[in-house]
Amino acid sequence: MEQTFIMIKPDGVQRGLVGEIIGRFEKKGFYLKGLKLVTVERSFAEKHYADLSSKPFFAGLVEYIISGPVVAMVWEGKNVVVTGRKIIGATNPSDSAPGTIRGDFAIEIGRNVIHGSDSIESARKEIALWFPEGIAGWQSNLHPWIYE
Ligand code: UDP
Ligand code: MG
Repeated sequence: MEQTFIMIKPDGVQRGLVGEIIGRFEKKGFYLKGLKLVTVERSFAEKHYADLSSKPFFAGLVEYIISGPVVAMVWEGKNVVVTGRKIIGATNPSDSAPGTIRGDFAIEIGRNVIHGSDSIESARKEIALWFPEGIAGWQSNLHPWIYE
């Protein structure tokens, strides 16, 4: 089944939003397949955001991501990449709808609490980067109550 990479950024961890954010993905019906609290090095953050290396905000973005621990996760479910992005909300919290994570918990684009893969291909790359050790193989017993 489809998987996505979700990261609670350092501001989300510092602000105590970890439980709230995990709860939203759990209650939707997605399955948690990987989870760890990790403080990443500069070179690792630069690799994660390599596609944005030419952007003017890149240096600040890397500083932000290495400023404290992040919660790295893999979530699984039907259409989880696109739906995960909807749960997260628009990149700039000024444009994120209320009810989304960024819409409810963030003000500024450079402190927008959470990352989610933007495509199945980026999800594959990001999961491989963040979870080289592999992820859990468990299956939820709730499956027939969530899927028809
Ligand atoms: N970002 C920023 N300034 C900008 C655009 C993006 O600080 O003008 C940061 C923001 O934290 C964003 C991250 O860079 O979440 C990655 O940007 P992207 O366009 O991939 O947005 P996302 O996929 O996170 O919505
Ligand atoms: Mg992105």
